Amino acid sequence: MICFCTCGNTIDIDYDSIRENIGSNFPDTKIMVLNAMCNGDDLEKLTNELKLGDYKGFLFVGCSPQIIEMKLRLELKKNQLEDIVFEIVNIREQCYWVHDSDDATYKANILVKAHFIKLLNTFYKKIDKNFLDKSVIIIGGGIAGLEVAINLQKLGYDITLIEIDKDLGGYVKKLPIIHPYKVSGEDFINKRINRLDSDITIYKNWTIEWIDGKLGNYSLKLLENNNSDNEKIINGSIIVFTTGHDIFRPKINDFYRYNEEDRVISLFELGNVLRSLNSKNKTEKLNSKNILKLFENKKSTRNILIVQCVGSRDKNYYEHCSKYCCTTAINYSIELLKRFPNSSIFISYIDIRTPWTSEYEYKKARDMGVNFIRGKVGSIEKIDDKLIATIYDTIVQKLMKIDADLVVLSTALIPKSENMELFNQLKINTWNKGFIKSKYAKLRNVETSRNGIFACGTATGPKLIEETINEAKAISMEIIKLLEEPKLFSNYNVTIIDQEKCNGCELCARICPFNIPRMIPQETDSESKIEYLAEIDPFSCRGCGTCNAICPTAAAQLQQYSQNEIFSQIKSLLEDSNEFTQPIILGFVCDECAYASVDILGLLRKKYPENIRLIRIPCGGRLSLLDILKCYSDGASGVFLLACGDDKCHYIDGNVKGHSQIEAAEEILESIGWDRGRTAY
Ligand code: SF4
Ligand code: SF4
Ligand code: SF4
Repeated sequence: MICFCTCGNTIDIDYDSIRENIGSNFPDTKIMVLNAMCNGDDLEKLTNELKLGDYKGFLFVGCSPQIIEMKLRLELKKNQLEDIVFEIVNIREQCYWVHDSDDATYKANILVKAHFIKLLNTFYKKIDKNFLDKSVIIIGGGIAGLEVAINLQKLGYDITLIEIDKDLGGYVKKLPIIHPYKVSGEDFINKRINRLDSDITIYKNWTIEWIDGKLGNYSLKLLENNNSDNEKIINGSIIVFTTGHDIFRPKINDFYRYNEEDRVISLFELGNVLRSLNSKNKTEKLNSKNILKLFENKKSTRNILIVQCVGSRDKNYYEHCSKYCCTTAINYSIELLKRFPNSSIFISYIDIRTPWTSEYEYKKARDMGVNFIRGKVGSIEKIDDKLIATIYDTIVQKLMKIDADLVVLSTALIPKSENMELFNQLKINTWNKGFIKSKYAKLRNVETSRNGIFACGTATGPKLIEETINEAKAISMEIIKLLEEPKLFSNYNVTIIDQEKCNGCELCARICPFNIPRMIPQETDSESKIEYLAEIDPFSCRGCGTCNAICPTAAAQLQQYSQNEIFSQIKSLLEDSNEFTQPIILGFVCDECAYASVDILGLLRKKYPENIRLIRIPCGGRLSLLDILKCYSDGASGVFLLACGDDKCHYIDGNVKGHSQIEAAEEILESIGWDRGRTAY
């Protein structure tokens, strides 16, 4: 069945000619013409037709899949029609909006036929299974981990909480005061620890030696006290990383005499000092670098200089803003002035970043007399046992010298380096030297690049405490959605391995950006030399198709982008190559940034030559050398790949792998005398 959408009669393409063309090639095809599929009534007409007919698939001809695909999928799912496959032919953005009328109609005819033939060759297998064990493993017992555990505990899930330290609470527990809650970190954390149900399994002082598995079946090996004398294997359906962060520690002489001078401390250490001053238990005083004696006399005057952005926003260290330090420095200044009103506090800054209610604290600090100096501290010299800081104030344009009794460095919030090995084992995407990268920063920011693994809090980047708490709630909702589904459905397009064809070469396992294919040992007899066969868990496969491009036997096939489908589409797109007036160029376009960019060309009505015909693929990694050679053998004059930019690939490095297939084609074709440049990236 083919369903044409006229986009409210705004697509000026000769639909009749397309219908005639399809009718003459495929006479029994049912054709529907609808006015606006994005309108609920027309969607209903389509689903009614699909319910009545015995359709295996249909072609939607209209606007971009970026606009209509998810709507169609949801509507089909709502009507229990999700097993019906469909292809989308984008004749609006790729024909009508970018070519003159006759050319647009001609190209639309070609595209519709090619997609229809692809649909006739469709490779699709329904995959679903009854759902997972309701078990969740939370790695990290700080504020984020505690919040996730508390949110989930009433639902009867089997929850395990693993903490590397001997106490729960992480960094937050060590904070003297939490803005905007106005309580100590200890009280804040203890309140949550007291709310933990007794049936949560808690491992304190345990490290993780390895981690492996897939959604529904992750395994971890734990060592107590980092010692192999006591080890344990635990399993869970879902993993949540709430592993927190570290604080940048300047090395000797790196920054302002830190490590060289007791009177130069970090903001975190100033927090310890404030905690000690607040502590009623004299024996528990935390005397960071013997600084407490500076505060023995309440009435004495003292100059305190706080230096912002140390290690943050600095291309030599960490380029990100650490987010916590402006607010924290301001709050600590207020605390200090309340206790020691005769002190003078100077904050040297590049910009002050105080989101939301922190702005009120910023005003309060100014009203209380904190001196904000916009400028970077040039140096801190030790002259006659005095610490003299030199700062050029860029507002009053004056060089200032401050005789500081205490220098506090607002050091960067950075990723925990010791977690990298675990992230690498799981092939989770990271960024900025080790923060976990979200699946999609805008819309799915608590999911990771791997199904069934979530992350929140400062494990994914600098956060304020209330943001972490909100993210923990979001994760809990995502987990509930997964665990309460009666059935788990795989992604729409996943790779299926034909084990009859697999030769056990392991190339798919080596190239997959997410480490999904497993090599399963086989019982061998004298005739069969194959010791391993590849297996892909459809609930973990992300559907990039990169393994398809390298599989030497075509055993690995991505649903709806299998070799047969792509080859049939190529052949049909080039059917007129002998008689067409211009050389035909085929472009493979990844379904992420590249497809969206092509849509934008359409939206802006930027015309491009009508001899360019595009093939949608999920990721640049799906493009194979064979696809490229097939294009040339069927009559293409040029081939290109359009994929996400450097470091922007949604499948880690599929763009790079696609690029190498283009390079390989260039080299092969050059060796037979073709000019370079025909095959482009
Ligand atoms: S929060 Fe403030 S001090 Fe911290 S890195 Fe950002 S701008 Fe610098
Ligand atoms: S690349 Fe293909 S042939 Fe090789 S192990 Fe994977 S599926 Fe089997
Ligand atoms: S399609 Fe992509 S995610 Fe799935 S197994 Fe192949 S390479 Fe891995």
